[in-house]
Amino acid sequence: MTVKIAIAGAAGRMGQQLIAATQARAAAQLSGTFDRSGDYETDMAAAFSGADVVIDFTLPAATSDIMAAARTAGAAYVLGTTGHDPDQRQGIERAAQTMPILWAANFSLGVNVLLGLVAQAAKALPADSFDLDILELHHNRKVDAPSGTALALGHAATKGRSQSLDQVATYARQGETGARAVGEIGFATLRGGDNPGEHTVMLVGEGERIELSHRALDRSIFAKGAITAAIWLHENRKDQPGLYSMSDVLGL
Ligand code: NAD
Repeated sequence: MTVKIAIAGAAGRMGQQLIAATQARAAAQLSGTFDRSGDYETDMAAAFSGADVVIDFTLPAATSDIMAAARTAGAAYVLGTTGHDPDQRQGIERAAQTMPILWAANFSLGVNVLLGLVAQAAKALPADSFDLDILELHHNRKVDAPSGTALALGHAATKGRSQSLDQVATYARQGETGARAVGEIGFATLRGGDNPGEHTVMLVGEGERIELSHRALDRSIFAKGAITAAIWLHENRKDQPGLYSMSDVLGL
């Protein structure tokens, strides 16, 4: 059985990788591609027609329309876009009550294993003796910060420490910041060149430091993971609305 895949954001950096990864996979078939267009809704409906799964790597503002068009086409939905605000996130959670959605800030196997390691380390190394900060570096055209993966790492850490990220996150430090609060999780964002994404979680104690890092060397790792996710979603959950993650796909 081949899974028919339509790609939204096809002209973008990830869109191009997704086209190549679909074509390289025997179990998948490219059934349509879509990007910004003049006759937006008609072109999108034509591109999604007959698809089993729509994969979307575009912009947060586009998610709601693309998700609705996927549902109208009877397709499941794989979402890789990052940078959604709380309202947009709630919209995705609501839509998942009516269609199968797989949403991941990062589709690489390595980062999904890292999320588990970070939760484990944050739990084992208490907040009052180990300060935890997250550093990320991405290419100079990235439009959201911190990266979705950095936020996912923050959520993994707070899950390990039974905290809520909203209550302990510090997204920038400048000027008279005062001393670091116990339990704070800081984010630092670097931008430059064509870097596909590096993340380091630092746990800094008195006299010792742990660094847990992942470096993406090539964007194809995200595309291959998204195609694996699309095949998994169609084969395992096509008639089961819900919000799924890479942990479900990888059995982590
Ligand atoms: P990009 O700017 O190269 O490509 C985005 C594409 O989306 C562009 O071609 C643009 O024209 C298109 N687009 C924008 N609005 C649209 C709309 N309303 N309808 C249809 N197409 C539209 O960006 P990119 O580097 O490919 O990244 C895209 C997204 O994927 C970003 O949010 C990025 O953070 C995310 N990303 C996620 C992962 C992951 O593993 N989840 C990995 C890499 C990138």
